[in-house]
Amino acid sequence: MLLLRDVPPNAKTLGALDQLQQQVDAEGDFPARAARAASTWKRKPRGAFHEVKACLRAMCAGVARCNYCEDSLGDEIEHIWPKSLFPERAFVWSNYCLACGPCNGPKSNRFAVFTSSGAGVLELPAGVAPAKGAPVALDPREDDPLEYLVLDVLDTFAFVPRPGLRARARARATFSIDVLGLNREDLKKARRRAAKYFESLLSSYLAAASPRKHEWRELIETSEHPTVWYELVRFSQRLPAFGKLLEKAPEARSWSVGRAA
Ligand SMILES: [Zn+2]
Repeated sequence: MLLLRDVPPNAKTLGALDQLQQQVDAEGDFPARAARAASTWKRKPRGAFHEVKACLRAMCAGVARCNYCEDSLGDEIEHIWPKSLFPERAFVWSNYCLACGPCNGPKSNRFAVFTSSGAGVLELPAGVAPAKGAPVALDPREDDPLEYLVLDVLDTFAFVPRPGLRARARARATFSIDVLGLNREDLKKARRRAAKYFESLLSSYLAAASPRKHEWRELIETSEHPTVWYELVRFSQRLPAFGKLLEKAPEARSWSVGRAA
């Protein structure tokens, strides 16, 4: 999971979103706003949302991969703050990213906030106006997940909270791993394969004649599992084979892998 760069829709589409949001906000109380957000979402305008989806796709890792697992096709618009709990964000551009079914399904409406200045976490019950508080789950539109998470590319290919985090940041990392199921067995296997794939692509890049090198670079930059790439680079000194390749191609450290141009 990476911090997403913004590829905003055009002004007309943003205006359409704004109008829909105003309709929701005009309702009297929380249940009415939540109901209105749900019903408006069901009949959202196709034209505007075609554009919304195209922009979100351009922000995705690899070829329209899910922003959470970076593995499956991201074909569902995900409300980072669930619209059932936060109808005031149902039609807010910055609350969207693309996710796949296996990530979006279990997450569904799970959302938690910090109830105090400490690390106490409250999972919000469904169907009632949410308690106020800072969000616990990492928001890929706002937070840089790699400041909170480490992918263990040396051994397990599981995500763990970054060592040395303070209690609250650690709670954010742990909750995100859990709610998004980031350590599903199939994902760990896929990341292990991706690491080998990146290594072989970088080797091919080094072996290629100069005019062809860009082809290999492009394959790396548009591959799924870009977080694996960044963690291979971050831990390259402890990865002899990959580290040697990176020493010969230091320019690869600054490649924009899996991020919108
Ligand atoms: Zn996913």
